Formats: sequence, structure tokens, C-alpha cells
Amino acid sequence: MQILLSWRSLPPSVALGRHASTIQSAVQRFVPASGSVDSSAMEKVQAIVSQSSRLFVISGAGLSTESGIPDYRSEGVGLYARTDRRPMQHSEFVRSAKARQRYWARNYVGWPQFSSHLPNSSHVALKYWEDKGKLHWLVTQNVDALHSKAGSQRLTELHGCAHRVVCLGCGSLTRRAELQNRFAALNPGWAVSAGAVAPDGDVFLEDEQVMNFRVPACDGCGGILKPEVTFFGDVVNRDTVQFVHNKLTESDAVLVTGSSLQVYSGYRFLLAASERKLPIAIVNIGPTRADHLADVKLSARCGQVLPAIQLS
Ligand SMILES: [Zn+2]
Repeated sequence: MQILLSWRSLPPSVALGRHASTIQSAVQRFVPASGSVDSSAMEKVQAIVSQSSRLFVISGAGLSTESGIPDYRSEGVGLYARTDRRPMQHSEFVRSAKARQRYWARNYVGWPQFSSHLPNSSHVALKYWEDKGKLHWLVTQNVDALHSKAGSQRLTELHGCAHRVVCLGCGSLTRRAELQNRFAALNPGWAVSAGAVAPDGDVFLEDEQVMNFRVPACDGCGGILKPEVTFFGDVVNRDTVQFVHNKLTESDAVLVTGSSLQVYSGYRFLLAASERKLPIAIVNIGPTRADHLADVKLSARCGQVLPAIQLS
């Protein structure tokens, strides 16, 4: 149900897009300073993973910053800190044709770069854990398809995926790459240079640049097209939440990686895990909402920790 139209069904041109930036420059631009890894905390994380045979992992924006995708909240480098832009609100998108025009114009410009980002060593490590039977389920708050690109299958994209488009009228799902072609056909000669790209593929344009941008409707019903992602102010589908709770019930330990868990949609699973007294490890630079629930909190880059974990 989660992966109705996965990244794997996308054309090779998307799969093999250029690497938007090297890991090194991505680390410098988008990853907060973390210093050296606390070895005793690292040992505790290792112990929790080693003792688990059905590990439940929650990943967030901090996992993808090392692929060059900025997150919203990181101190100093997140978009909240670097710009005065805020993410699209669900109600504004549904209510306002002008807001949708602005959103899609920016998204259209940012798409080639956003869709070309590649998985990093942490995504690869989690796929390896899945192959080895260590990982029971992976829940990501990211909409960048990087776990799918790495090959993860035991995966729920809690907030959807920017590589899919949903019609608010008939509910049909289409590929974002197809919509890019429709945008290009409807807007010949409409070219602008892209600025910084946000986690949802958003980009910065002046209002005048946006005014002439034409946005297509659903081919089938004429309905409003929206990225199949949960915007701020919207709620995660109830069936999806129940599905993830079931996966958590089957698990024996929890690892949070690269998420501050500020959004309740992810935090609630930590509350449930704590209630069941599951071991909880958190790897994240900076404080998280669930630090008080964790057996160990390791402040480090995901890329410093996940690839270094040994599977017995
Ligand atoms: Zn439709």
C-alpha cells in the first residue's frame, strides 16, 4: 500500500541523474558541526543494534543532508536558519490557485536537481541491514526517495514521496517525472536559474517569474494535482499510522537516525516504543524531542555511525 508507485518504476534517466554535489561539499553546506563521536555512546548504540534481531528504524532529514539535501531545522544550516521561507501549508495549497502556481513553478525549477540526489553511506548501510535480516522495518520522514534508490523494501514513507503526484479529485497517482514533461510542454521558453533547493523540491523565485507559469490539471478528472507528500498542517493517513504501529509491535528495539522528532507523526512511535520498554537509541546532531525516552543519545552525523556499526 505504501509503495503504489515506487522510485523503481521511474525511468532510468531519473535513476541515473547527475550527482548534485559531492558528499564532502554536502557535509560542509548542510550538515551541522558535530565534532568527534563519543566512543562510549557509540558502544551503547552498537550494543542495542547487536542485541536486536528485529530492529525498527526511523530516519529523518539528517540522513539525507549528506546527500546534499538541506533540512528545515538544523541549527545554522537548515532553511529556517538560512532563509525566511517556510514550507507550504496544506490548507493554503488546497485553497489557493495562486499558492499552487507559486509552489509548482518553484518545484518545476528545483526538480532536476532534487530528483538527481543519490543515496549516501547511511542509506546503503540500512539496505545492508535489511539484506542481513537485522532490520525489521524502516520508517522514513523523508520524501526524497533515497531509501528506495538504495534498494530498501521493508520501508514506509511516512510523509509520502515527492516522486509521486496525487490528484485531489480522483486520487489517481502519477509519476512526478511525467508531470515535469507536462510543465515543460505548457511553459515553453519559461526558463529561470534555480536557487537553493528545499527538502520538498521547492526553490526560490520572484513573484513576477511565477505569474505566467501554467499548471496542468488531472488528465482524468480535471482535479488539482499535488505532490504525494504530507504538507505541514496535514495529517498522515490513519491506515499508514496503524500499519507502522503493527511493525513496531513486531520489533524488539528502536533506532532513530537523523531526526529531531519535532513532528508528532514520528514522535508518537517513540512514545509507543517507550511504553513497551523497548531499547531506544538516537543518533542525531542536536537535541530531539525524545531524548528523555532514549537509552542512548549519540550526537553525530549518521554517516559517522551507521556504516561503522558491525552486524554480528
Ligand atoms: Zn483526477
